[in-house]
Amino acid sequence: MPRPWHGSNSFNGEFCSRTAVLIACRVCECIPNERADNFQISRQGRGIYVVGIIFILKNEMAKQTNTKRSCCIRCGKCCIKSSPTLQVQDLGLITDGTIKKTSLYTLRVGEIVQDPVNKKLAQITKSIIKIKEGNENTACLYFDKKEKDCTIYDNRPSQCASLKCWDTDEFMEIFEGETLGIRDIVSDGVLLGLIDEHGKRCSYSLIEGQVREIEKGGERVVQEILDILRFDYELRSFISEKLNLDLEELDLYFGRPLMDTIIMFGLKVIQGLDGSFLLTRF
Ligand code: SF4
Ligand code: SF4
Repeated sequence: MPRPWHGSNSFNGEFCSRTAVLIACRVCECIPNERADNFQISRQGRGIYVVGIIFILKNEMAKQTNTKRSCCIRCGKCCIKSSPTLQVQDLGLITDGTIKKTSLYTLRVGEIVQDPVNKKLAQITKSIIKIKEGNENTACLYFDKKEKDCTIYDNRPSQCASLKCWDTDEFMEIFEGETLGIRDIVSDGVLLGLIDEHGKRCSYSLIEGQVREIEKGGERVVQEILDILRFDYELRSFISEKLNLDLEELDLYFGRPLMDTIIMFGLKVIQGLDGSFLLTRF
């Protein structure tokens, strides 16, 4: 039974890794997800994931060179490890309906991802759009586990098409290119305004600052955090209803619900039957 938050529970500056997303290595087996529980975030870790992917892919290339692989054996390891980030050239896959908007989510600035180089968690410094992973695993949503196959193989995103685990040059060229942004996808002024407002009121830097203040500010700060969480929660239902959008699609516009990602700060929200929110330690 989780304990309700009270003033004597102090936030010690460590972040929970449970919602961290592996955006870097999609082939290497050297960073299994279980190890993420041992990671701690370092403020110096900002932006380091970009270096991480290069380092790990080059390592993987060396390993694969040793095994003399020269073609894809469709083992599916890269699809099981994580999903791709979309690049600008992948926009057509969304507009032609190959990739549904409900299958996408945005990783927002400040979210925690695994940095495989320093075996620490790091916060991302630029929003990116990814294909969703399964609820219980890290596999890409378009990976058919039974058939061990990509269900959109002929139209797969550019990162996937360029990924050769034995030779990373082509992948790196794509990876270093421009990633797809929400403004490439959304042109509706009302929705863009709401995305901007949500970004301001629900930014991870704001939440992080509040969480660090809990010990000093007690209940007042807890209530402020709950206000942010409630805003994020209620905005989604409101927009879904008013703009007639699938709730699943809102992960693309507003990122993953804060009710889910708050656990990266070691906190959890319990919703009462009366609609009230209770903040607890995870
Ligand atoms: S590129 Fe091909 S061989 Fe390499 S991990 Fe992916 S599916 Fe397997
Ligand atoms: S889109 Fe297809 S190729 Fe790319 S990670 Fe998903 S299942 Fe694999």
